[in-house]
Amino acid sequence: MSLPTFKGGIHPSDSKALTSEKGIEILRPSGEFVYPMSQHIGAPCSPTVKKGDRVLVGQKIGDAEAFVSAPILASVSGKVKDIATRMTISGAIEQCVIVEGDGEFENGTTLVPHDDFRSLAPKECIGIVREAGIVGAGGATFPTHVKLSPPPDKRIRWIIVNGAECEPFLNCDNRLMLEHPEPVIGGLEICMHIFPEASGIIAVERNKPEAIARLEAELSGRGSKASVMPHAVKYPQGAEKMLIYTVTGQEIPPGALPAEVGCLVMNVRTLYHIWQAITNGVPVTERIVSVTGDVIAEPKNIQAPLGTSVRTMIDAAGGFTEDPAKVLAGGPMMGISMRSIDVPIVKGTSGILALSAASARKFTETNCIRCGRCITACPMGLQPSLLDRVVRLREYAEFEASGGMNCIECGCCSYICPARRHITQACRDGKAGVMAARRKSA
Ligand code: SF4
Ligand code: SF4
Repeated sequence: MSLPTFKGGIHPSDSKALTSEKGIEILRPSGEFVYPMSQHIGAPCSPTVKKGDRVLVGQKIGDAEAFVSAPILASVSGKVKDIATRMTISGAIEQCVIVEGDGEFENGTTLVPHDDFRSLAPKECIGIVREAGIVGAGGATFPTHVKLSPPPDKRIRWIIVNGAECEPFLNCDNRLMLEHPEPVIGGLEICMHIFPEASGIIAVERNKPEAIARLEAELSGRGSKASVMPHAVKYPQGAEKMLIYTVTGQEIPPGALPAEVGCLVMNVRTLYHIWQAITNGVPVTERIVSVTGDVIAEPKNIQAPLGTSVRTMIDAAGGFTEDPAKVLAGGPMMGISMRSIDVPIVKGTSGILALSAASARKFTETNCIRCGRCITACPMGLQPSLLDRVVRLREYAEFEASGGMNCIECGCCSYICPARRHITQACRDGKAGVMAARRKSA
């Protein structure tokens, strides 16, 4: 029987074997830790500490009054060395709090553990989620307390757990499901407590049979009403719209949020953080990162304090075997090419991928041969070849009218194109062009 899936998509080599069997290693480095004040979608934080202050693990060092934002917490104990602009993992220059770690990791969180989350009102749970600094850990970094606060007229009927991890090379979610299924399921139960009418469905690609078995065993041991739904292996199965279509058969209207169709989509690590914050009083100060690629000496899954430099992460994985041609933050499909490895890991960093010149080879673009493969592959039902053409002509109004703003930048079109057209980059440029035109007319 064929497994549920979505329309379009591609089947790139998953290249996960480099780290799929590597257990999570805990890294406790010393030295400098850098905390960008914007690690989420929404308003950046302002520092709540000053140079010379001593900070503790879990202490708030940045916050904002805006609803769509999330506080930043220290991941080490130590002294605030500076508040200055630094380059971040995306290549942007942002305000950062810089802490010199003292190697003690002294705890200073103000979160309180709650043995029974059912004794808390949903609003109290959501308040703790905010104070714990939780954002979407799958990479979107949307503040989780906002996601858990849909408009009152929206009835949430499905909580879909994203365990797909469809991006090649990455295994941080897979290892979390294998090694820590209890807090993942616990976090889902908390969400089902907040939305008591919702069904909990954990969507995992069938290429992770051990994770599926661990989650099913945990669910049955707890007598949980939630279930695991294995689905076909196809990229980008983990994209929010693809998951919703796969699980419920519904398409989200352009520009609408999942709540419009009664859905919440939560990454497995986001659920882990929800459980840790509410049950154990542990805020977001660390994350698991797959450090991998064909020029990494010992590819690993490393759990490290946020603010640790990418260079330190690579050194912990044995360093480079040769000079990399490219280092990406994230996987090969949606990752961002890094300009420096002296930048900190942040809440949305799932992978560090270092590739040799042979693996990262660049192709020369040729003319479109109108084969239509990009149209078949596009999971959003767009016409990528058309979008590519109009962006190169700087016809941004035509790009917008052709649905270009719905592009999720998944990379399927570029991957499948025999003419090696840089279509995804053209779509990014098109979106930036539309936004610039909107700003100008405003
Ligand atoms: S046009 Fe956008 S959504 Fe469609 S395949 Fe290309 S990158 Fe993905
Ligand atoms: S896949 Fe490439 S060559 Fe084929 S239609 Fe699309 S842009 Fe043109």
